[in-house]
Amino acid sequence: MPSPLTPLVFARVATKQQVVALTFDCCQNEKPAGFDEPLVRQLIRGHIPATFFLGGRWVEAHPDAVKLLASVRYFELGNHSYIHPHMTKQTPDRMRQELVRTQQILHSRTGRWATDFRPPYGEWDSRVVAEAGKAGMRTVMWSVATGDPDKHASAASLVAEVRKVKPGGIIIMHANGRGWNTAKALPDMLAWLKKKGLRPVTVSELVKSGSPVSLEARK
Ligand SMILES: [Zn+2]
Repeated sequence: MPSPLTPLVFARVATKQQVVALTFDCCQNEKPAGFDEPLVRQLIRGHIPATFFLGGRWVEAHPDAVKLLASVRYFELGNHSYIHPHMTKQTPDRMRQELVRTQQILHSRTGRWATDFRPPYGEWDSRVVAEAGKAGMRTVMWSVATGDPDKHASAASLVAEVRKVKPGGIIIMHANGRGWNTAKALPDMLAWLKKKGLRPVTVSELVKSGSPVSLEARK
């Protein structure tokens, strides 16, 4: 497991570089999920770095997808808990199980440890952030949500949300078959970023480009 980190939760990075992070959650709770392979193939064709936050249960249910993601060196794999619970409602022991079990599943299947944790439903408190820190992870929120879990959100509306991103921003989307229209919207998103001179990077590279702006002080 990675060494424990000082607890940190952030939704953007203060940076002088023209960089943004595209992040894709792969959530799975008791209901089956899927894998948006056309979306991932587009990223690979364009050599676009991205961070995928994988749920442990999703990883177990999608071994081929995990193999594909782990085979791409410019994709970063993050931790999205095991069963996608409301983390702030769990005991510290249960939180730890969710985080550590997923770390171990990720490592046994990909040889990688996650250094970033995306809390299910974006729900966090100082206990969650502290437990993630103990498991060697920063807690990563987002500055822009495309709204892709909404079946009725059009590709154009997803692109319109992406246009709100600023340098150092983090965009949340989904790659578990619950990101409606994301694959369709991706070419226009990438074209817009390119036009603005905003380069997609992984969350870890984004952090290295400047200073994460801690949310903790606001909670
Ligand atoms: Zn999720």
